[in-house]
Amino acid sequence: VTTLSGKKVALFGLGGSGFATARALILGGAEVTAWDDNPDSVTKAAAEGIHTADLRTIDWNAQSLFVLSPGVPLTHPKPHWTVDLARAAGVDIVGDVELFVRERRAHAPDAPFIAITGTNGKSTTTALIAHILKSSGRDTQLGGNIGTAVLTLEPPKSGRFYVVECSSYQIDLAPTLNPSAGILLNLTPDHLDRHGTMQHYADVKERLVAGSDVAIVGVDDSHCERIADRIERAGGKVTRISRRHALADGIYAEGTRLIQAHSGAALPIADLDGIPTLRGSHNAQNAAAAVAACLAAGVSVEDIRAGLASFPGLKHRMQPVGRRGNVVFVNDSKATNADAAAPALSSYDRIYWIAGGLPKAGGITTLAPFFPRIAKAYLIGEAAAEFAATLGDAVPYEISGTLDQAVAHAAEDAGKDESGPSAVMLAPACASFDQYKNFEVRGDAFVSHVAALDGITMLIG
Ligand code: ADP
Repeated sequence: VTTLSGKKVALFGLGGSGFATARALILGGAEVTAWDDNPDSVTKAAAEGIHTADLRTIDWNAQSLFVLSPGVPLTHPKPHWTVDLARAAGVDIVGDVELFVRERRAHAPDAPFIAITGTNGKSTTTALIAHILKSSGRDTQLGGNIGTAVLTLEPPKSGRFYVVECSSYQIDLAPTLNPSAGILLNLTPDHLDRHGTMQHYADVKERLVAGSDVAIVGVDDSHCERIADRIERAGGKVTRISRRHALADGIYAEGTRLIQAHSGAALPIADLDGIPTLRGSHNAQNAAAAVAACLAAGVSVEDIRAGLASFPGLKHRMQPVGRRGNVVFVNDSKATNADAAAPALSSYDRIYWIAGGLPKAGGITTLAPFFPRIAKAYLIGEAAAEFAATLGDAVPYEISGTLDQAVAHAAEDAGKDESGPSAVMLAPACASFDQYKNFEVRGDAFVSHVAALDGITMLIG
């Protein structure tokens, strides 16, 4: 970060992206004072040579900027004390995405910058766009909420593409966010209902697309539909996408086919049929958004098609990891509750389902509509007895206990299934903590059990 050379900057929050931000600021010549509520983080920062001080004790009037880590509450549920101090001194409060936005503006305002937000599908869409750009030979940087802090990416230069997933927090803390293409995938009401700050949440997400040169908006929910209309009325350029219905202008899905419509004329762009990582109508929405962004960035239809077809998928999210004969092995370890497991269960017709772990309230009762697709369930962890009771007579099951047993038995049963293609799927609808450190470790364990099967072809590197 060069735009703050010689300036004093206060920084709060020394998690992964906070550290990366502090380092980038110091490298660019800023005088950083960093702090965190966690004394271990402060000790670690000090050991790395980052100047640390309790931000209650510094001269706020001397600070040029206050950088807040995403995840530290700005407005919800109530402002953090550091926010009050910064506000009282009139110091701007920003996050790392805003610092990136300013760098880009200063050094390479023409570097394509695609920002993605929404309630669901952000990471998939972000990874898909980056994959299409990369495989078409473009210099591509992928970061933000998906995992890599934006300030650890290669610095902005002309011709370099940035694909950045933005959480609500990150948008909130990026007052001058102006992507060349902004994507708002969806705003699901049931998700909003769980937020005390529903209007604020929707307003924040709207700002990402309203500030974009091209706003790509999923219009399958009423919030987003209104947002698209508002931006257009204000003179903005909007590309609508839909997974549910045909559009006169925009990109929509008709089954697995993606169609580009312009003034009523429809042109087929791609077919997702047979792309294992993009199954399901939710992925048609993600792919439609990715296609819109890539077209706006000047990628050819041929390159877009090739990129869609070779998308490796995201780890632990409905990821096809192996194949044996007619059986595909799918890792959806990220599905840590029933809602999250639903898309995976709706995307395959015949499923050998590995479920269980540390149970969540409500269990799997809401998944009953998918029970007819389940050939057999293999139950693991603490939830096994409860899930068995829910499945009752509706679905055959066994209590496998552990993941290795579940994989072995499910693979054997699926292998004998002569009724057609099937999936052995880990979609646990549970947290992992009874048996694993986290869902990633659980997913990796699934993959290694699958890799150990006789005659398996792995689909991942
Ligand atoms: P996010 O980054 O927004 O959390 P991900 O791309 O990581 O989303 O997907 C997480 C899960 O959300 C997926 O495994 C799938 O179950 C579901 N999902 C993905 N895309 C969509 C979508 N467009 N609409 C609804 N649900 C989706």
